[in-house]
Amino acid sequence: MLITDLCVGCTRCVPYCPSGAISIGKDKKAHIDRNKCVECSVCYNNANCPVNAIQPEELEWPRSVREVFATVYKEHKQTNVPGRGTEEMKTNDVTGRFRPGEVGFSVDMGRPGVGVDLKDVEKLTMALAKVGVEFEPLNPLTFLMSDKKTGKLRDDVLSERVHSCIPEFKIKEEKFPEVLETLQRVSKEINSVFSLGICVKVNPDGSVPIMKYLNEHNIYYLPNGKTNIGIGKPAAKF
Ligand code: SF4
Ligand code: SF4
Repeated sequence: MLITDLCVGCTRCVPYCPSGAISIGKDKKAHIDRNKCVECSVCYNNANCPVNAIQPEELEWPRSVREVFATVYKEHKQTNVPGRGTEEMKTNDVTGRFRPGEVGFSVDMGRPGVGVDLKDVEKLTMALAKVGVEFEPLNPLTFLMSDKKTGKLRDDVLSERVHSCIPEFKIKEEKFPEVLETLQRVSKEINSVFSLGICVKVNPDGSVPIMKYLNEHNIYYLPNGKTNIGIGKPAAKF
């Protein structure tokens, strides 16, 4: 919250806002565009306002959604997942979430510093649902869906804008090209950006199952391997 009456117009806070939501008005005081603001608290935590005109605020639902998606130390009460997503594939050796023949996706939307409207996120999740993806139930965005089969988000959050969020899902490998084509199509229909994290199990011969599809679709990739030695054993038989 910015208490305009206290502001002395020093402009110190303006460049701190990652969303470009703070501007100096004709009254020579700072103002926050509430539609652009993603409630990240960067202005409060870093600008060091000389007159304490920027102060924390207890946010009501559904605006509180913005704050949780912008601050990793805030937990979604319903999932106990802090911030935007889950551990994804990082703990697959313990969770066994992704198995041979399956492909896991995390779609990192709105970063860096762009932000994304949840109604644009819904465009993407609904298009993916038509392909038949399985959304990750512990992801906080999945919790915001009123219908996980269609990818529809709750109506009361559709006017909210978040710093970033990560739709997470998995598919059978044979659906991989269709998912890529869907993501490429929707990327032209939304007013934001996203990058993809894709997880597969490497074949016994060392080849990676999806590489040929990425090459066919001219998608630039950085392959990363991850090996946990002795940290945990699979929760289920692979
Ligand atoms: S830092 Fe404080 S006083 Fe300076 S422009 Fe921002 S709100 Fe106003
Ligand atoms: S809370 Fe974040 S987005 Fe909102 S005005 Fe401050 S820095 Fe900008």
